[in-house]
Amino acid sequence: MDFKNIAKTELHRHLELSIRQSTIKELAPLHGIELPNEKAFSDRFLITEPMADLGSVLNKFLDTQLLLSTEEILERVAYEACEDAYNEGIRILELRYAPTFVIREHDNLTFDSIHAAFVKGVEKAEKDFPMAVGLMAIIQRILPVADAESVTDFAINHKDTFIGLDLADNEVGFDSKPFASFFQRAKKAGLGISVHSGEADVPKAPEYVKDAIEFLGATRIGHGLQVYKSEEMMTYIKDNNITLELCPTSNLLTNAVKNIEDHPFKKLYDFGIRTTINTDDPGIFNLTLDGEYKLIKDLFDFTESDFSKCNDFAAHASFIAHDKKQKVWPRDILK
Ligand SMILES: [Zn+2]
Repeated sequence: MDFKNIAKTELHRHLELSIRQSTIKELAPLHGIELPNEKAFSDRFLITEPMADLGSVLNKFLDTQLLLSTEEILERVAYEACEDAYNEGIRILELRYAPTFVIREHDNLTFDSIHAAFVKGVEKAEKDFPMAVGLMAIIQRILPVADAESVTDFAINHKDTFIGLDLADNEVGFDSKPFASFFQRAKKAGLGISVHSGEADVPKAPEYVKDAIEFLGATRIGHGLQVYKSEEMMTYIKDNNITLELCPTSNLLTNAVKNIEDHPFKKLYDFGIRTTINTDDPGIFNLTLDGEYKLIKDLFDFTESDFSKCNDFAAHASFIAHDKKQKVWPRDILK
C-alpha cells in the first residue's frame, strides 16, 4: 500500500508541537540551547519512549515552547507544519494551539500577534499547496478559569479565522463542568467543539467523555479511546454520531495503552464508531501520519477501503467550511 498517496484528513495535530526537527536544531542555539549532537537533540526535544505519565510528557513540551519567541518564527512554524502535512498526503488539516501556552515567557507577544502570525503562515501555505487548513483555539484546563474566559473571548472575536474550540491537558482533577458556559457561548457563536477526554487510563475516563459531550457540547473527542471499557459509552458515542480523534502512537507514549497491540482502534472501528487517524504531536513524538497508517495496517490488517472510510469520517467531521474542504477532497463530503 502506498501510504503517502492516500488522501488524508487530519483533525488532531498540535501546531506548537509540530515544529520541523531541522527548524528546532536551527532555533535552539539562538535560544541558548546547545545541541552538540543528535543524542543531545533527541534527549532534549523528542519523546520516543513511553513516559511515566501524561504529566511528564506535558513538562517536556515546555522546551519546545521556548523556541516560539517571535512572530517571524511562528509564521515559519505554521507554514512548515502545513508543507510537511501536505507532503504526507494530507489535504484537509486542522491545527490547534493554546494561546496561553505559546505566550508563556514571551512578553513581546500577544494573543493577537501570535494568531496573526500563525494565520499568515497558514494562508501562505494554502496558496502554495492544494490543501484546506483550519485553526482551533485550545483552553488549558489546568489554568485558572479566568484564562479560559479570555481564550473563549479571543476565539469568538476571531471566529473568521478560528474554526473551533478545544479543552486540553490532564483532566484528572479538572472536571469539564466549570468550563460549560464558555463552550456553550463558543458553540452559539458558530465554533466547532472538540474536547480532549478519555485519554488517560483512569476509572472515570468514560464518564469524563460523557461530561465533555453533555456539558461542553463536544461533537468530537480528542482521543476518547478509553470508552472501549464501557459498552454503554460505546453505544452512546455511536448513537450520538460522535467522532473520535484517535492517536495510536501518542497513546503509547503517554501510557494511555501499555502495548500498542492493545490499542482499541479496531474494536471501536468495528463497533461502528466514527474513528479517525491522527498524530497529536508529530514533531516532538518523531512520527508522521503515514507512519500511523502503516502501524494500523500492520496491527489490524486495514485495507485501503478501511482507510478511505476513516478519512471520510474525518473529512465530514472537520469544522472547516464545506465548500473549502470539498475543493481539495477526492470524494463527496456529506453535508
Ligand atoms: Zn492532543
